[in-house]
Amino acid sequence: MAKKSLQTQLIHTDYKAPQGFDAFPSAIHHASTVLFKDVAAMRSGDWKNKNSYNYGLHGTPTTFTLEARLAEIEGGEYCLLAPSGLAAISMIDLGLLKSGDDVLLPDNVYNPNRELGRWLSQDYGITARHYDPMIGAGIAELMQPNTKLVWTESPGSVSMEVPDLPAICKAAHDGGALVALDNTWSAGLALRGFDHGVDIVMQALTKYQSGGSDVLMGAVITRDQALNDRIAMAHMRLGMGVSGDDAYLVMRGLPTMKLRFETHDASARKVAAWLKARSEITRVLHPAFEDCPGHEFWKRDFTGAGGLFSVVFDPKYTEAQTDRFVDSLELFGLGYSWGGANSLVMPYRIQSMRRDWKDQGILVRFNIGLEDTDDLIADIEQALGKL
Ligand SMILES: *Cc1c(COP(=O)(O)O)cnc(C)c1O
Repeated sequence: MAKKSLQTQLIHTDYKAPQGFDAFPSAIHHASTVLFKDVAAMRSGDWKNKNSYNYGLHGTPTTFTLEARLAEIEGGEYCLLAPSGLAAISMIDLGLLKSGDDVLLPDNVYNPNRELGRWLSQDYGITARHYDPMIGAGIAELMQPNTKLVWTESPGSVSMEVPDLPAICKAAHDGGALVALDNTWSAGLALRGFDHGVDIVMQALTKYQSGGSDVLMGAVITRDQALNDRIAMAHMRLGMGVSGDDAYLVMRGLPTMKLRFETHDASARKVAAWLKARSEITRVLHPAFEDCPGHEFWKRDFTGAGGLFSVVFDPKYTEAQTDRFVDSLELFGLGYSWGGANSLVMPYRIQSMRRDWKDQGILVRFNIGLEDTDDLIADIEQALGKL
């Protein structure tokens, strides 16, 4: 071929990746357009088939690699990535529910999931009802012929109740509904959702999988191909896609996830035990502690705990006082989310979030990061002095 102009060379480069190049990290692939070998290959392509590529939005080798790894971690077969944990939640609802259907949500559900239910009820002809997270087999009484999906979350990410997952799954299945589990708290490490009967596991990869407080992503994992395909239709129709760079960031976190998780767990239990001995605190809501509703289910079903727990202050302290406590913390950032190296704190007006919350004291949630626990405890101690 004749010598190409520089402009063309910039596009049609002769560069070839070195033969035999091999390394531990997966390559990061970027694509909107994916090129087909010929028209026949284009016509026979199927966007759902993960052994071929069709369009960047539907996946690249990078995103399919991450999906396969996440399915393996959860003990599932199929995985779909979404641009946030919340997008994964909405993909499940929109893939599985239609007008006339009913969905049940625990009263302690992740609040944006509750908000999604409110929206579906208001504008889309789907009813969203709430159940007591400790209802167990009693959920059978709430099942209706049109109840198609039961959401579970274990534990609830603010008030920390651990539900009787197998009992809820059995009653839901007897009533003809599927069960989705928001398994973000335990990162798929401390609770194996599929072993306890759930059909769909959802993860906010934003948390422990990434571990860097720098990326948002979600995943929906299933074991059943037909079920995966229904959610994949929503994935496609809603235009859900994730960037290769973000997928790489999550993948980069995976090799250290378990070690980080175990450190978060040990540190959180140490800080929680210290808080439990303090007179300012009436309850420690950590699944490994007996104060926590569903502690017995945690002991039965979990192999560990995360870094996230809450405490309830003695009702004699006003919100202004507990706000001063929170503002006085120096090592704890005031912010949502968790799973990164930094400890975080967040006060909640839980009475306004829940139908039947009984504690009178102010609830404050802690995310214990990877700092030295003696330093964290010293920080909490000085802040308690400001109450
Ligand atoms: C963070 C979180 C989500 C949502 O994840 P994003 O990536 O922030 O959208 C969903 N469920 C739980 C329990 C979470 O903690």
